[in-house]
Formats: sequence, C-alpha cells, structure tokens
Amino acid sequence: MPSVPEAFTPPPRVLLGPGPSQVAPSVLRALSLPTIGHLDPAFLGVLDQVRAMLREVVGTSNELTMPMSGTGSLGMETCIVNLVEPGDRVLVGINGVFGQRLAEVARRAGAEVVTAECTWGRALDVDSLARAAAGRSFKLLCIVHAETSTGALTPIAPFRELADRLGALLLVDAVTSLGGVPVDMDAVGADALYSGTQKCLSCPPGLSPVSFSPRAMQVVAQRKLPAQSWYVDLGLIAKYWGGERLYHHTAPINMIYALHEALRLALNEGLSLRYARHRQVSHALGVGLEALGLRLLVPASERLPPLMLVEIPAGVDDARVRRHLLERDNVEIGGGLGPLKGKAWRIGLMGESCTANSVSTVLAALRDALISEGHRAPDDPVAAAQAQLR
Ligand code: PLP
Repeated sequence: MPSVPEAFTPPPRVLLGPGPSQVAPSVLRALSLPTIGHLDPAFLGVLDQVRAMLREVVGTSNELTMPMSGTGSLGMETCIVNLVEPGDRVLVGINGVFGQRLAEVARRAGAEVVTAECTWGRALDVDSLARAAAGRSFKLLCIVHAETSTGALTPIAPFRELADRLGALLLVDAVTSLGGVPVDMDAVGADALYSGTQKCLSCPPGLSPVSFSPRAMQVVAQRKLPAQSWYVDLGLIAKYWGGERLYHHTAPINMIYALHEALRLALNEGLSLRYARHRQVSHALGVGLEALGLRLLVPASERLPPLMLVEIPAGVDDARVRRHLLERDNVEIGGGLGPLKGKAWRIGLMGESCTANSVSTVLAALRDALISEGHRAPDDPVAAAQAQLR
C-alpha cells in the first residue's frame, strides 16, 4: 500500500499577487467552526446576515444578492447563463483577459457576441463600445470594472447611459473591485454584478457574490427556455436563499461562515476608510516602484488601487525574480497574463494584504531580486514609499 502523506502545513507566504489575498485570522477561525446543517435555523440566520452585509458592500437593495457556491468564474457563468438565451445579442468591452473570458462564456451560451477591443492597460472606452454597437440593439452590455490582467479601473456610470441607448441590461464584473474600490451598484445603475471572495474581501477562494436588479430578475423570469445549467439557475437557487428555504444544493457551510466574518471585518472597518486605505497604500507602492526605476503600466488616473502592473525591465528574467521573491522572502507576486506574460508583474494590495508593511516587504524583496539581476535602483524604494504613508 502506498504510504499516506503527512498532514499538509502551508509555508508562511505573504500574498501580494492578483489573489488570493491574505486571510485574517478571525476568518480562518470561522472556517474551522463546527459544520452544522444547511437548513439548521441557526445557519439560516447566518445566510440572512450574509445577504444583508453583502448588500451593504455592493451598494444595493436588490433582493437577489447572495454568494454562488463557486469561484468568481461561476459568478460570471451565473450572470450570463441566466440572462442570455441563444441568439441574444451581447456587447462585451475587452481591455484584458477577463473581458475575453466574458465574451467566450456568452458565446458558449449561444449569444451573438459583439466585442469592442480597447487598449490593454487603459480603462474601457465608452465611445469604442458605442462604435462597435453600430446602432444595433442588445440584450446585455458587459464590462469588467477592475481588469485584473492589466490593473485598469473603468468607471461604470458612462456604460449605464450606453446600455440605455442600446436597450440593454448592464452586467459588471466586480471580482477585483468589491471591498477595495467603491462599486455602488444601485447608484451606477448596474443590473447584474458578480465578484469573488479571494480578492479585496480577503476570504479564501470559493464563493462568488452575485446581485441582480429587479429588472434583471424580470428578464430571468420571462425566459423562453430554462437556463441551460441547472446548478446556476437563479430561479431555483433564490428559493433557498429567499423565504421558502427550498433545498437546491448543499450550501458550503464553512465558506459561508468565513464570508460572514470577512464581511463583518469590512463593515467594521468602514467602507470609506477601507477604500481610502487601498488608495493610500497603493499610491505609496507606486512611488516605491518608481524609486526602483520601474515603469507602471496604467496611467495614474485609471489605476486600480488593489492591483498594480509594473513593467519588467529589459534584461531581467521574470520567472527568476518571482522565484527569488517566493523562495527567499516568502512573497508571492503575480506574473503577466496573455500578451503581458513575461512583460509585467502584478502586485496586489487587496484587503488584508493592503498594509504599509506589505509595501515595505515587497519593495525590499524586489530590490534585492533586481540587484541580483544586475538592475540598479536609483533611490531607496522603501524610504520613498514610507515617506508617502507618514
Ligand atoms: N473576473 C476577474 C476580473 C478576475 O480577476 C477573476 C479572477 O482573477 C475572475 C473573473 C475569475 O475568478 P476566479 O478565478 O475566482 O474563478
């Protein structure tokens, strides 16, 4: 019989990549609480509190606001699969990998997908989307609020106006923004939104908050055909999360405890203070990276505070530097995705990871790794960053 492995002990990493982010000790403790039944009245009370807290963080009064049992991609599937029927026209703005993924998921749902290709590393350009629409009407307009492959933040409100002109519902990917950047779903007029727990909410990966406006729910209710996926059929799932408490699938109990605690931490901090922390700490990181002689990919006005893209200098080996950081300093940062692979690093300051300490840790580790690659820093990056935070 093969020998049974030892129990796993993870190394003490500092997570400063594109997610997952550091998880607070109290969230980890919540995960380890005793599992109870998914129809236990005590657990149903937790569901109600999770929904109420999620509404607050999302900025919505939508009745249908809840976490789907899967990662951010399941939130994406849930929105598309419930809102789109075969033959529906869908417009997707693309300025990175996750816009591409949205377009692919919509195609697989049978939509006639029109894409507007925008510059990677910049916010989505509403005029490019209007041109791509070419006067046609659409069922759905999809945008990524915070493009994790490039670190660009797109303001949502202008896309509401465009969606109105196109007769479309507005779907927003808020995976990397929720909890770190204001989303304000109702104020900006988004009809459907999804996120993930492992970014600025600092919960482990495994749940995907979604919210549907009454108008979006009406579209779901008026479908000609049932959603092609039984598992993500919101009409069915809402009966468990809503008043009827009808079994659909077994809720991931302990993950919901963890989200409950992560939402409590976010609301106890105060959302405005939390957003300000992300802005200030991220600004300091940018100053430190520039002191290292590195170039930031996204212009300051379109930069996503929780995630910074930094260009890899010529002659520096991407994989070797990231390995240096991980093996010597226990620091994880992300590599580039798609066309940015080997050309940029992604440094995340999300939720619990977004601290002055993280900034010093990653800058010091990066300086050492770059020196061993023969790159000379013009200034002391840690001092430059800390001066911003004093
Ligand atoms: N959308 C965006 C913007 C993301 O950053 C991610 C993941 O990084 C996803 C969707 C997919 O989420 P997940 O990897 O949790 O399935």
